[in-house]
Amino acid sequence: MPHYKIAIVGAGPAGYFAAQALQNSVTEDLTFSIDMIERLPTPWGLVRSGVAPDHPKIKTVSKVFEKIANQPGFRLFGNVELGKDISLEDLTNKYDAVVMATGSSIGKKLGIPGEDLPNSISASEFVPWYNGHPDFKDFKIDLLGKVAVVIGAGNVAMDCGRMLAIDPKELDETDSADHALNALHKSNIRKVFITGRRGAEFAAFTAPELRDLPKLEHTDVYINADAIALAYKNAEAKGEVEKHLASNLEAMKAVIEVPKQGHERSLEFLFSHTPKEILGQDKVEAIVYSTPDGDVTIPCDLVITAIGYVPEVIPGIHFESGKIANIDGRVIGSNIYTVGWAKRGPSGVIGTNKSDAADVVQLLISDLKEPKQAGDISELLKSNHEIVDQPYWVRINEAEVAAGEVRGKPRVKAVSVADLLRLGQP
Ligand SMILES: Cc1cc2nc3c(=O)[nH]c(=O)nc-3n(C[C@H](O)[C@H](O)[C@H](O)COP(=O)(O)OP(=O)(O)OC[C@H]3O[C@@H](n4cnc5c(N)ncnc54)[C@H](O)[C@@H]3O)c2cc1C
Repeated sequence: MPHYKIAIVGAGPAGYFAAQALQNSVTEDLTFSIDMIERLPTPWGLVRSGVAPDHPKIKTVSKVFEKIANQPGFRLFGNVELGKDISLEDLTNKYDAVVMATGSSIGKKLGIPGEDLPNSISASEFVPWYNGHPDFKDFKIDLLGKVAVVIGAGNVAMDCGRMLAIDPKELDETDSADHALNALHKSNIRKVFITGRRGAEFAAFTAPELRDLPKLEHTDVYINADAIALAYKNAEAKGEVEKHLASNLEAMKAVIEVPKQGHERSLEFLFSHTPKEILGQDKVEAIVYSTPDGDVTIPCDLVITAIGYVPEVIPGIHFESGKIANIDGRVIGSNIYTVGWAKRGPSGVIGTNKSDAADVVQLLISDLKEPKQAGDISELLKSNHEIVDQPYWVRINEAEVAAGEVRGKPRVKAVSVADLLRLGQP
């Protein structure tokens, strides 16, 4: 009975869904050992370090991941980085197939003057900072000023804007990192703009996120009614308004219709604002936009760019147009496959990765030949390497959840690798 060894690199949604698709393909004549390799001591990818803390329901998908991890033949190798602790060649030699599920984690740059001024930062720094990603535990952000600008018209921009604009009390019962929660409690930011380059009809927000905005208890949300009327007009001029766009525009209209309470905190959406230059002497002081009505300068103290991600370079992997070079998930001329944001680029919600991974796994299975007899990753790592296997991770997870229970939170995250490893010691 053929038995194949598959390495999956990256323990985010795409990696788990690839593992699940392999598990679902097991028959009497086809079985798999799955080794999942993750550079952090914690799995779940952006479900832990991306999804906003005030959206805890989204994170319940982690229960599905844990079920996958508990199936026979699955092993977690956390705290193991491809390109540092092991090489791609090691994996391709030892495994019948290698599935790259490494995501896309570096913030895209605007390429405008002033972008490198202090307090002009990227969502790819701000988000993992408030979510307790170990790489960003010492990240510094100055929240002393009153006005913040978020550049981008997608859900990541919305998360960043909301995190700055809501009353931090609303985050007390979430799993936001303690360092971020402390900083947000001291924050002077009271006015937040989210700005999109094009009209509202092109915004990439999704309707459920927009529909949440009127529920904010301590923040008034503003969208210009003329901008929405224009978006309807422009969309209708092209024919029937597509369903997704219609529900987005409806959700924006609902925001406009909510009576404003005169809160000290506000979140305002501006469309057709193309960033031109960030101004400031020693740090951000203002941003200049070009708009259909001419240049507009908004004085501000913090700029966060949320305009997409590019993948981190991994030795031995060829990247093309912001993703691993692939055809339908196959890396041509190798036993390497790719899924998730590494394969498609940074678009799609958690669920998108499921059907996508299932399609790639079908191709992978159809390509399998004679199984290799070449050992596995445990022979590749140094004998003193601290591997976070599934039981080790379960101990970390339980310790974080227990610390959270005392404080009425889902968990209290440990934010350094050393602390995480300590938490999981038997
Ligand atoms: C800020 C933000 C908020 C989001 N909010 C939502 C939401 O509310 N709802 C929703 O449905 N979707 C949301 N998404 C989208 C969702 O997170 C993605 O669709 C999904 O995480 C992509 O999965 P992935 O497995 O491809 O990548 P990731 O989740 O990024 O996982 C990649 C994993 O690979 C690991 N890795 C990288 N390099 C290496 C290496 N060299 N060696 C070993 N491991 C490595 C990383 O540490 C990471 O754990 C959000 C995305 C972002 C950025």
